[in-house]
Amino acid sequence: MCSGRVDLEFVLRAFSNGMDGVIIGGCRLNECNYITHGNYHALTMALLCKRILEHIGLNPERLRIEFMSSAEGNRFAEVMGEFGSEVTGLGPLGKGKGEGIDPKELKSKLAETTKLVPYIKMVKNEKLASRLTNPEEYDKLFTKDEIDKLFSEVISFYIDPEKCQACMTCAKRCPVEAIISAKNQVHVIEQEKCIKCGTCFEVCPPKFGAVTKISGGPVPPPLPEDKRTIVRKGKEKKES
Ligand code: SF4
Ligand code: SF4
Repeated sequence: MCSGRVDLEFVLRAFSNGMDGVIIGGCRLNECNYITHGNYHALTMALLCKRILEHIGLNPERLRIEFMSSAEGNRFAEVMGEFGSEVTGLGPLGKGKGEGIDPKELKSKLAETTKLVPYIKMVKNEKLASRLTNPEEYDKLFTKDEIDKLFSEVISFYIDPEKCQACMTCAKRCPVEAIISAKNQVHVIEQEKCIKCGTCFEVCPPKFGAVTKISGGPVPPPLPEDKRTIVRKGKEKKES
């Protein structure tokens, strides 16, 4: 219904499914019937996605956004024809001029990037909400260096087994159930499931401060399951 609903994930999914090009059609800017002006959101999302495609090694011209009214049938036909020819000229996805990415590598890069969509949207939230009124601003909104940095400094969260007191707060608040939680057991983040929202980092009580933020570096391996039981000091004394 609204181009503002076209999520970054949808576009990446289309490319993951082997599409050679993606075109997003939206109503003319400033002609939205609602106060939301979702087409401005679609625009910033498309600009971000173009930079991401570039980062992956794909030609950003494979993605286009066009604004037109429903009365402009001729223009729609023209744009589609033009884009179709352009995409044909670019060649199959990953095999175009300057691309040359192995299909397996491309699939894994697209899958990795798709997993990071919630994180990317959270980090770039402010810019994604911009209302760009001057086309000259389009290229400047997201820079290549900025996006390269975004990927090289991706944040991960890790629970320090020495500090975790199994209070379970983080597990209750994690929106994607990415924390392995059990009574009296050191909690562990399942990195594959984590969407890097930072909630666990914020809610872990300061007196424990068990969740750490890692920028860009590797995450330490999780504690083996048979070593996760927390032995409380009092109990330790009783037992000895
Ligand atoms: S960063 Fe968010 S998604 Fe990841 S483990 Fe913490 S609360 Fe869950
Ligand atoms: S909130 Fe902190 S102390 Fe509590 S279970 Fe999570 S990591 Fe451990």
